[in-house]
Amino acid sequence: MAKGGKDNVHFPHRHLLGIEGLSPEEISILLDRSETYVNQNRRADKTTPLLHGRTIINLFFEDSTRTRTSFELAGKRLGGDLINMSVATSSVKKGETLIDTAMTLNAMHPDVLVVRHPHSGAVKLLSEKVNCAVINGGDGSHEHPTQALLDALTIRRRRGGLSGLQVAICGDILHSRVARSNIHLLNTMGARVRLIAPKTLIPPEVERLGVEIFHDMNEGLRDCDIVMMLRLQRERMHGNFLPSIREYFHFFGLDYEKLSNAKEDALIMHPGPMNRGVEIDTDVADDVGRSVIREQVEMGVAVRMAVLELLALNPDNGGNA
Ligand code: ASP
Repeated sequence: MAKGGKDNVHFPHRHLLGIEGLSPEEISILLDRSETYVNQNRRADKTTPLLHGRTIINLFFEDSTRTRTSFELAGKRLGGDLINMSVATSSVKKGETLIDTAMTLNAMHPDVLVVRHPHSGAVKLLSEKVNCAVINGGDGSHEHPTQALLDALTIRRRRGGLSGLQVAICGDILHSRVARSNIHLLNTMGARVRLIAPKTLIPPEVERLGVEIFHDMNEGLRDCDIVMMLRLQRERMHGNFLPSIREYFHFFGLDYEKLSNAKEDALIMHPGPMNRGVEIDTDVADDVGRSVIREQVEMGVAVRMAVLELLALNPDNGGNA
């Protein structure tokens, strides 16, 4: 088999469009590779010239703080040339289609495009039109693969593995690409997933993904190892999904009382951006003994370095191994 990345680690895909369909071995390749970058990122000199001469373009059609910055840092720490395309000031504003934008960028010979788009499926469509590797930085409510990988890395480092863990994903599941990618990853790696949300925020037939559904936080959190909170994605809500934010926090916001149902050492996670007092109590969010929210951000850079390296140096993408 052709080899990619440093030390001949090979990830056998041209793109990273989602977690769905990846095997446990493929997920482990990405997590193991990320692990080496966690150590590198804690050193004074965080750079390595692995992607010297490679061009990475961040193409974000939706707002982002963590994902865009961490791809930027990741690309730069690997010695690549990275540019951020600002859609707000680009020809997209002049009516250019997604595909025309992609074709234009493609003609400049980038090695990797990192794309975020408000529509589910848009990143896959774009990947079919370009010659370079494409990484999904979040497409609508579909997938956000690097978020699930960084969540998995955070859990694995704290708990030694994922298999057998009981993970509760709580909140706006309906609109969450983070939830979807995490469900696929956690199930593939042998964890058990519970979804806790009001009925209006649970996607129809989601049980088919092999999850347990709860509408009561106290019940759903019982004996969980991991509590993953999600933001209410109000920008994707068209209609009335909730009576009020106050009521939502009362029933579904994570506070110490509800948390007491989970295991004593249960980890608290949140992909960010957090809405304090809406889905999570501010003291719980900042509880240094339980909350790993900052660590998730740290792991994000390592995961994105691993993904960039393995895709950019994949010979199937025209990279020189
Ligand atoms: N940052 C995550 C995303 O882009 C979660 C969120 O926005 O709530 O999906």
